[in-house]
Amino acid sequence: MKKITLFSILTASAMIFFSCAGPQSNTDPESQRAGIIPQGVEFEALPDIDMKAKLAGFAEFELTSDLSHLTADELEILPLLFKAANIMDDLYWKQAIGNRDDFLSRIKDEDTRTFARIHYGPWDRLSNNESFLTNISTKPAGANFYPEDMTKEEFEALDNPYKTSQYTLLRRDDSGNLKVIWYHEAYDKQIKEAADLIRKAADISKNEGLKNYLHLRAQALLNDDYQPSDMAWMDMKDSNVDFVVGPIENYEDQLFGYKAAYESFILIKDPEWSNRLQRFAGLLPNLQTLIPTNEKYLKDVPGSDSDLNVYDAIYYAGDCNAGSKTIAINLPNDPEVHVAKGTRKLQLKNSMKAKFDKIVVPIAEKLIDPEQQKHITFDAFFANTMFHEVAHGMGVKNTVSGKGSVREALKETYTSIEEGKADIMGLWLVTKLREMGEITDGELMDNFVTFFAGVFRSSRFGTASAHGKANMMRFNFFEDYGAFTRNGDGYYSIDLEKMAEAMNALVDKIMTIQGEGDYEAAKAWIEADGNLRETLRTDLARLNEGGIPVDILFKQGPELVGLK
Ligand SMILES: [Zn+2]
Repeated sequence: MKKITLFSILTASAMIFFSCAGPQSNTDPESQRAGIIPQGVEFEALPDIDMKAKLAGFAEFELTSDLSHLTADELEILPLLFKAANIMDDLYWKQAIGNRDDFLSRIKDEDTRTFARIHYGPWDRLSNNESFLTNISTKPAGANFYPEDMTKEEFEALDNPYKTSQYTLLRRDDSGNLKVIWYHEAYDKQIKEAADLIRKAADISKNEGLKNYLHLRAQALLNDDYQPSDMAWMDMKDSNVDFVVGPIENYEDQLFGYKAAYESFILIKDPEWSNRLQRFAGLLPNLQTLIPTNEKYLKDVPGSDSDLNVYDAIYYAGDCNAGSKTIAINLPNDPEVHVAKGTRKLQLKNSMKAKFDKIVVPIAEKLIDPEQQKHITFDAFFANTMFHEVAHGMGVKNTVSGKGSVREALKETYTSIEEGKADIMGLWLVTKLREMGEITDGELMDNFVTFFAGVFRSSRFGTASAHGKANMMRFNFFEDYGAFTRNGDGYYSIDLEKMAEAMNALVDKIMTIQGEGDYEAAKAWIEADGNLRETLRTDLARLNEGGIPVDILFKQGPELVGLK
């Protein structure tokens, strides 16, 4: 089969960040552009950076899964999905920096090049996007979505209804004026290749839900209208294989938070765990009414057929593979789909367990009061993470102040606020479900202490990301509430009652900002509290001395799951 060559190359080239769609004669508009990397210079690691130590900060983890419950057609489509996912990886590089191959070829040594692949560019995503290369300055907030020299004023002045679309780039025309170009035109050639692969997979698939979704998703890539395929994805209930693909999250656009970045996950369902989680879905509409905030913010009813399932991830490509690794997914992002059909939550059990074992546990040993360390459990970590995703689908979607959707009203502050909401409301949900007798294993203190240890874990990524800022805002909020104390040896101890109070107050604060669409309040809060305080900075430095990995690095590819 023709595939063998491709996959041999894939695995030989370290599997991870490499795209290997083969030689291409790209003729789409974006392949003509250099992007945001300086031209005509070479790059090496900055003199004060120990690149070997940097690389050692990533604990390697193989993405595998048991495929024995897959049907013949499910196994047959996987190689096609790997190829399509690789194209998403290529496209993400283009969105993040521009010309990947040219950039990598100008880096002098292999270790530094590997590090650049991990970060999809010259800025350390786990360390406030600091440059680690010579000849590279600050990361442009708008990545490669906008011209580097474009000002916010120039953007605001442009009269084009599609400039704020998630699926357009801003470019300059021949006379230097801004113009808007759709993704499917900008990346024309590769988008068509990906759509072809996905259509082939759709034709092979015998699962009606998956087949329909794949057909519509291929179409969506070609016209940048994702809603029909998002709706179809919501109706896809019983496939063992899932394929998340397309421009999805808007974290990479730090200028406005409008533009979506390409990514892909290939996922294999874990039937046993999935069944355990299904039963929680039915409780969500009732839980929505119990959120501790003004009831005027509780009018958006969460979709009643929202579903929760557990998967092993066998491939991460593009945006989701850059920086800190996603361990749970809540999609789609389209608020109209939320209202019509809810969202789906996909818990990635294998990547979650890797982070727990290799990062959370060693961190807790260094920072959590020895008396409370017995409360650090994988079950609690799993529940906290799962309910973070559930919480994204709850709360308020549309402002009550006539400012449109929360996402529109909060602009670039939206992701930090929304991630903060999901974290704290997730913990609130666990607390409520325990009160209702729906969760009985372990105890609430396990969730609280493990949640708190998770804050340390995420804080180490710095405050550049939406998650990083959300973490600091929460940590500082807890501190101001007395939810924890830090003893002289640098161990943290949780106060169960005060933590519960702080949790409720934080849920209310976030719901109010979102419900009112209060952009100014969100901005002021992030500026005041989205930063590391000095004591925590010192404690986190201790972790880095301790050799605890900063994150997981995936070894992945078709051969790891036994596909040739
Ligand atoms: Zn989230």
